[in-house]
Amino acid sequence: MKKRLRANSAQRLRLMHDQLVQAYGPQHWWPAESPFEVILGTYLTQNTSWKAVEVSLANLRNAGALSPEGLRRLSIDQLQELIRPSGFCTRKAPALKAFIAMLDAEFGGSLDQLAKSPTAAVRSRLLALPGVGPETADAILLYALNHPFPVADEYLRRIAERHRLLIPIPGHKVKGYEALVQLTRQTFAADPVRKRARLFNEFHALTVAVGKAHCGRTAQCAGCPLAGDLANASS
Ligand code: SF4
Repeated sequence: MKKRLRANSAQRLRLMHDQLVQAYGPQHWWPAESPFEVILGTYLTQNTSWKAVEVSLANLRNAGALSPEGLRRLSIDQLQELIRPSGFCTRKAPALKAFIAMLDAEFGGSLDQLAKSPTAAVRSRLLALPGVGPETADAILLYALNHPFPVADEYLRRIAERHRLLIPIPGHKVKGYEALVQLTRQTFAADPVRKRARLFNEFHALTVAVGKAHCGRTAQCAGCPLAGDLANASS
C-alpha cells in the first residue's frame, strides 16, 4: 500500500532518534573491515541471520575472497559452497558475480570509481542488478560507498506503522519503502549535509537495535525508549 507522511512525522522521528541515541549510544556499523566486505554482507544477509552471514564471511576470508580480486578467482560452484551457510546460495552467488561483472565492465573494477558517481545514478545501476532490491542498494550506497542516502527496513516499517507516522493512501498498492526513505530524509533535512551519511548510518543501526530489543513481530512497549511517543500516534 502506498503511504504518505503525516504532518509532524519527521519532527517526531527526529526526537525518537535522539531518544535512541541516549538509550543505546553509538552502534559502530557496519561490522566489516572494508567496503567490499560490506557489499558481501548486504547480499548475504538477505533472508537470513547475521550469525549465518558471519560463517559465510569467515569462509570467504579463509579462501582469500573478501575482495573483488578474490571473488573473481572463484568459480560459481566454489562461491556457492563458501556462502552456503547464509542460505539461497544458488541465487546469491550469481548475484555477487553479476555485481563484479558490472564493476569490471563499467567502473574499471574499482569501487572508488563507482563511489564517485552521482547517488541517483549509482542507485539505479544497483537496482538494475539481479538480487538487489531497494534495501540492499541503499545499504551499499550508505555503508560501502558513503553516500548520504537512508536505508529503510522491516524494523523501521514496524515502528512507522505502530507509531502511525505514515498514512495509507487508499487505492494504491505500491510498497511503502520509498515513503520510509522520504520520511527518513525529511527527519534529517535540517542537519548539515556533511553529517547526513553519519546520521543515516546511526539511525538505521539504532532502529535495528530497538527492533531487536522491543519492536519485533510482537511489540514489547514496556521499557522501550520510544514508548513515550505512542501518545502522539493517536492524536
Ligand atoms: S516496541 Fe512499542 S514503543 Fe517500542 S518502537 Fe515498537 S511500538 Fe514503539
